[in-house]
Amino acid sequence: MQKKVTILGGGESGAGAAILAKSKGFEVFLSDKGQLHQKYADILNSENIPFEQGQHSEERILGSDLVIKSPGIPDKVPLIVALKEKGIPVISEIEFASRYTDAKLIAITGSNGKTTTTLLTYHLLKTAGLNVGLAGNIGDSFAWAVAEKQFDYYVLEISSFQLDNIVDFHPYISVLLNITPDHLDRYGYDFQNYVDSKFNIIRNQTAADYFIYYKESEVIQNELGKRKPAVGKVEVSLDNALASGSYLENGELISNINGHAFAQALGELPIKGPHNAINALSAISVAQLLGIDAGKISDGLKSFTNAPHRLEQVEVIGGVTYINDSKATNVDSVFYALGSFEQPVILIAGGVDKGNDYSQIEELVRNKVKGLIVLGKDPAKLENYFSGKVPQIYATEDVQDAVNKGREWGVPGDIVLLSPACASFDLFKNYEDRGDQFKAAVRTLIQ
Ligand code: ADP
Repeated sequence: MQKKVTILGGGESGAGAAILAKSKGFEVFLSDKGQLHQKYADILNSENIPFEQGQHSEERILGSDLVIKSPGIPDKVPLIVALKEKGIPVISEIEFASRYTDAKLIAITGSNGKTTTTLLTYHLLKTAGLNVGLAGNIGDSFAWAVAEKQFDYYVLEISSFQLDNIVDFHPYISVLLNITPDHLDRYGYDFQNYVDSKFNIIRNQTAADYFIYYKESEVIQNELGKRKPAVGKVEVSLDNALASGSYLENGELISNINGHAFAQALGELPIKGPHNAINALSAISVAQLLGIDAGKISDGLKSFTNAPHRLEQVEVIGGVTYINDSKATNVDSVFYALGSFEQPVILIAGGVDKGNDYSQIEELVRNKVKGLIVLGKDPAKLENYFSGKVPQIYATEDVQDAVNKGREWGVPGDIVLLSPACASFDLFKNYEDRGDQFKAAVRTLIQ
């Protein structure tokens, strides 16, 4: 008899899982409590995959042999609890996809830097001529990619939510960039739960696999001390020259791994700032582990273009540089964004606060920020925190008004930086919309 699979959630990962499950001979049903994007509804229809929207038919779902849960659905919702009580396996889409590929998996996670590092790693492998796919939180879902084409390698951007429901998901190389407080609402406001979720990335790794991580992360080091995993460890460091590993020294990215040596000036890369040195060293480490030739790694690093909204230079107008870092939705990313500039900064921040603690950036703000523009519906928290700590504060709900204020305060040599530390949903559809509106507002300043 055909096994019954129910997919919960009909976004990119749910639709991908449905298509893969269908192609593997399962009897598939997809259920989404909200409305499906038309694109996905059309695809499911064309594949003859039954689905429902606006509800979960509990009885039907509880009759499944296997449930694949989209990352957006928390484990604590009653339906998931009921499934688990009944002993029905609930797995994530990456777990499901990994069961149908023999490709070597390179899985990249962290609170910040995932997209940049994933794109860069993929770019390095691809330009070196490897048969490599890109999937996960970026572009196609992993299941979708596996359903469509087989590769020798996949570079996967993986979020903590996707790691929550894995069983056998097994990367050959895993990368953990950092762990700083984020999404705590999903983890019972207990940071350790979030840390455990991130560490799932190494759960099934063995001594034949590799784990690349940022050495100066105390959270990662503490956890490694507790767990003592058998995996092959590769450290990335900004502060220590390593006999084996990858590090930054005097502005040079240096890597010594398995007898392969690599060196290149950070200044030659199109991505800037210390956080991007961590990201680049991680990607270089992957390439080194795969034995890619140093010249090819170097070419790939120089020809990389990052995704927009990440410290993206928009324009230089009247000597003032406008930077769009709309993707900086938590405090840690703003910490790194501010650390990337020597010049005085006019900082545009604000939006939906996720329980932010601004003490982490207080010193940087005091030293670098000559004016704070709070862009958001509820500016009180930022205004109160930084009142008296920056020379001037202005609050607005209008992105053009914010940019105009930046121009008014800016003098040649200054940076106007949108790096919000907050989610965007109070005034914008998403961070992309916020960044696009910011860029459009900046471009109105061009005479
Ligand atoms: P993610 O996919 O994890 O959200 P991105 O690569 O999209 O990460 O970068 C998001 C923001 O996080 C960037 O705009 C930058 O400000 C910050 N950032 C990027 N890399 C790092 C890093 N290694 N450590 C801390 N912050 C980072």
